[in-house]
Amino acid sequence: MEWETVIGLEVHAQLATKTKIFSGASTQFGAEPNTQACAIDLGLPGVLPVLNKEVVEMAVKFGLGANAEIAPKSVFARKNYFYPDLPKGYQISQYELPIVGKGYLDVLLDNNETKRINITRAHLEEDAGKSLHEDFHGLSGIDLNRAGTPLLEIVSEPDMRSAKEAIAYLKTLHALVRYLEICDGNMQEGSFRCDANVSVRPKGSDKYGTRTELKNINSFRFIERAINYEVERQIQVLESGGSIKQETRLYDPDKNETRTMRSKEEANDYRYFPDPDLLPLIMDTNWIKQIKEKLPELPQQKRDRFISQYQLSAYDANILVSSKELAAYYENVVKASGEQAKLSANWVISELLGVLNKSNLDILESPITSQQLGKLISRIADDTISGKIAKTIFEALWNKEGEVDEIIEKRGLKQVSDTGAIEKMIDEIIAANPQQVADYRAGKEKLFGYFVGQAMKVSGGKLNPQQLNELLKKKLQG
Ligand code: ADP
Ligand code: MG
Repeated sequence: MEWETVIGLEVHAQLATKTKIFSGASTQFGAEPNTQACAIDLGLPGVLPVLNKEVVEMAVKFGLGANAEIAPKSVFARKNYFYPDLPKGYQISQYELPIVGKGYLDVLLDNNETKRINITRAHLEEDAGKSLHEDFHGLSGIDLNRAGTPLLEIVSEPDMRSAKEAIAYLKTLHALVRYLEICDGNMQEGSFRCDANVSVRPKGSDKYGTRTELKNINSFRFIERAINYEVERQIQVLESGGSIKQETRLYDPDKNETRTMRSKEEANDYRYFPDPDLLPLIMDTNWIKQIKEKLPELPQQKRDRFISQYQLSAYDANILVSSKELAAYYENVVKASGEQAKLSANWVISELLGVLNKSNLDILESPITSQQLGKLISRIADDTISGKIAKTIFEALWNKEGEVDEIIEKRGLKQVSDTGAIEKMIDEIIAANPQQVADYRAGKEKLFGYFVGQAMKVSGGKLNPQQLNELLKKKLQG
């Protein structure tokens, strides 16, 4: 039997405010445990929460960026449950009336097709504290610093059909919240966390299968692996006559497997009710308009602009707009290269991103500036150096050995374009390889590459390939 995968994602984006959603306590990451939770975050008797306006503004920005409806009225509700890291006994969240309604993101897939992934809703809520299980010798520690930190929970429709599609959607969402500057996107620190809901069904069926939920996985790679593992597990269970239980499962990256964490709670277990301490949130349409006017160019618009302005493929453009900083870097390279847009895209994507990733560096930490890379590309374009030599210079730039023209000069890397000099070199190669010349002339045309290789070796790669090809052909014809 053929199976189809169905995935819906819930993403918790921590909103990048300085203070908490209902109190003035700091949200700074990494403080000493329990130094940043105030009486409101702890829900001590008699305190009153006050909604942080910036949190609302960020949710609105998200709604606008995700082509979504902003609810004219939304309501905060108490979600009641007991957990040691939730001293109040309830979490303030939104339930029936979330601030952001239906929206969508258009996601570019590997096959270069765009797929629309629908967003069900996005609602505001406060985060809970953290239980710490390490270093306490059989006990657990509780750190409440995170209690009351603002979260936007973004829920997608079950529209994704493979782990790859899920990752493409997540990356699109990740880029969006960072462009909007509403979330720093740091997955290690838990600022952007994902729960993946996964089910399978017989191909062609129009009914969804029972889903399991994979909790809080903190990297794109692990999410992809966890989903793939879970899909295989479910198929095996079903094919051996079993059934899937709706439950929450934990992914273990060390063993690359998912394990039961708890059976799924139902919404009615939480006894949601409107928080009596908080008024309904009524949106001012003028304010929404003002926020909309100040939105920056968003990833999708930038991608479309890169495709038309620089004639890039959708694939390349998508990579380059994955962060604002990378996009800005690329545009500076293009300028410094004398508008060599395509060549610049190749160098940024294949060369620069390659080494940055290997060294675990961000584009802002690149040892090679956009000015330098642009200059290097301009020297390829004006035939001062070949693409091959450019790679040597690229390495030198990476090692901070100086500026492009300096390195070319110092190392004598300028391309030889003097026809006479090249012809002389070819004559010598022909004289030194009589057998190959005879074979070539007898029809073994593949040997042409051999002569090119010889010439490049003798010249140290400093020949213009096109010029070399022409002269070599002429000479070999005899
Ligand atoms: P809960 O709080 O119970 O997790 P939500 O409504 O917040 O419920 O989220 C449900 C998520 O599960 C959504 O992202 C939705 O797309 C996804 N989902 C629902 N049914 C399925 C299914 N059969 N297979 C995969 N994902 C599903
Ligand atoms: Mg869920």
